[in-house]
Amino acid sequence: MTDPIHDVLRRVFGHSSFLGQQEEIIEHTVAGGDSLVLMPTGGGKSLCFQIPAIVRPGIGIVVSPLIALMRDQVQALRQTGVRAAFLNSSLSMREAARVEAMTAADELDLLYVAPERLLAGRTLELLNRSRIALFAIDEAHCVSQWGHDFRPEYLQLSALSRLFPQVPRIALTATADEPTRREIIARLGLHDAPLFVSGFDRPNIRYTVVAKDNARAQLKRFLGDRHRDRAGIVYCLSRKRVDDTAEWLRKAGFRALPYHAGLGKAARQRHQDRFLREDGLVMVATIAFGMGIDKPDVRFVAHLDLPRSIEAYYQETGRAGRDGLAADAWMVYGLQEVVTLRQMVEGSGAGMERKRLEVRKLDAMLGYCELATCRRRTLLAYFGETLEEPCGNCDNCLAPVDLWDATVASQKALSCAYRTGQRFGVAYLIDVLRGSATPRIRRFGHDRLPTFGVGADLDPWQWRSVFRQLVARGLLNVEMERYGSLRLTAASWEVLRGETEVHMRRDLRARPARSKPAKKSAPPPLDHPGDAVLWEALRKRRTELARAQGVPPYVILHDSTLREIVARRPRTTEDLGAVAGIGETRLRRYGHDLLTVIAAQSPPAEPDEDAK
Ligand code: ADP
Ligand code: ZN
Repeated sequence: MTDPIHDVLRRVFGHSSFLGQQEEIIEHTVAGGDSLVLMPTGGGKSLCFQIPAIVRPGIGIVVSPLIALMRDQVQALRQTGVRAAFLNSSLSMREAARVEAMTAADELDLLYVAPERLLAGRTLELLNRSRIALFAIDEAHCVSQWGHDFRPEYLQLSALSRLFPQVPRIALTATADEPTRREIIARLGLHDAPLFVSGFDRPNIRYTVVAKDNARAQLKRFLGDRHRDRAGIVYCLSRKRVDDTAEWLRKAGFRALPYHAGLGKAARQRHQDRFLREDGLVMVATIAFGMGIDKPDVRFVAHLDLPRSIEAYYQETGRAGRDGLAADAWMVYGLQEVVTLRQMVEGSGAGMERKRLEVRKLDAMLGYCELATCRRRTLLAYFGETLEEPCGNCDNCLAPVDLWDATVASQKALSCAYRTGQRFGVAYLIDVLRGSATPRIRRFGHDRLPTFGVGADLDPWQWRSVFRQLVARGLLNVEMERYGSLRLTAASWEVLRGETEVHMRRDLRARPARSKPAKKSAPPPLDHPGDAVLWEALRKRRTELARAQGVPPYVILHDSTLREIVARRPRTTEDLGAVAGIGETRLRRYGHDLLTVIAAQSPPAEPDEDAK
């Protein structure tokens, strides 16, 4: 007789073993303990509260800020035979009353509730007369005022420990830096609760940062080479850039949709639904998009603008490849972003302490961009993890960066900024360095400076790279009052006096050919002839099943499950049931369909030699 948690894992979810710390966390919660769970996106957080909710008597209450996604999450659970429902403002009075009745009658395993609704009179009263198995607080970092996703409605969750002291609480998040962690513990009263921190590594994601040359052309080449007709997200900073980029991608032959707060609720919802339901759509979005999107087959996340912090970057890129198959996190980055972001931080109305924090976060982000060594190592170090070996799956590992001694070039650049009065931006300084006697330069008499024309050995693009790296390292400061003008810092003088050497990345203008194929290849290509045909046939059937139920295809079956079916070509119900992701309910619902598709696409099993 197996224990109940393994039994549920196998029978309901169709998985043969737990991932990482899932088992410990689940046992702890089943036994009634509180906890804080830090796990990267795709790490398998959901099972940590779903299984205890099923195993413990009563209903598991899941608090999630993502109203728009609750329906999909609940539908996905129902596919596995779990009795799940949600309560949020999208339900009619009648629907809500029905869910409340089921809750009171203990007829559910899991109930998803919007945070603003949880402690409102009516729900609170309902909870008081229901049997509660646990509270799961998903996206728990939303309680942190310093974090990047603060939701005021989350603050009231601090009352849970007082109102329901006997009910275990499990808080989950993929954002794990130390201050956020402390704030979650304090606000949710988890002082005595154990902290479960999982490895944050996402080895299937390939990190790449390229120096901006022509962002659109670079994006197009990246998409065209590796991601034609695949689902992905392109992040931009402003609404206008989102709209322009989406429009431009459509003209370039990609299926792209915009998403930002200016679009209106209905359009946003429509675009999000299409992204979830259709294959191969590109969502061009501001950071308003993506939290809680658990679409497993997002193949790439591209940043056209620099995120404000490594946490935000890691969370955004983490939306790629949740299915564990190869995925890309790709970013173009240039001097202008640094200037813009610095100014946004400086010019914001925030208090001194907050500003200092934001500047520090931005600096860490810039440091990441300018790395010449393994990017994953630095990312993981930021979350307190050590990677022993370079990862082999980031741009710097795949094509080692060429460093050059930029000490003299830096001295020229700094001295040029100084001698022109620290009042000018990059374009002007580059003109002076390269000796272009523009009318403006002549008017200021800067064509007579000793630095005039000393930098003819580098082209403007190379100079931009130098200036960008100087700013990123704090060797030049972007001035607030005068737009984009550059000022020296204390550290600049050490370089000017020759006390420090400066080594810089040699930025490559055109991306070199890929040196190695992706670690695990994403579908397709597949291994054997005929696999692609079966793959397409299975996807087609999946789309039909999804349409019929009005759910996204991955709610029916994940790509990773389809891949395994293609690889194994199961012929019997029993063999099919052994495929990861197929539990009893899915087997009953789709077994026949899948086996029919497989039979139609496969040669007869075990061909008889004599029959030829
Ligand atoms: P998170 O919420 O942490 O981002 P999910 O709970 O959505 O992650 O899980 C990510 C993926 O991992 C899903 O596709 C899920 O089906 C899969 N998964 C979770 N637990 C297991 C397991 N024990 N075995 C195999 N796959 C799992
Ligand atoms: Zn690496």
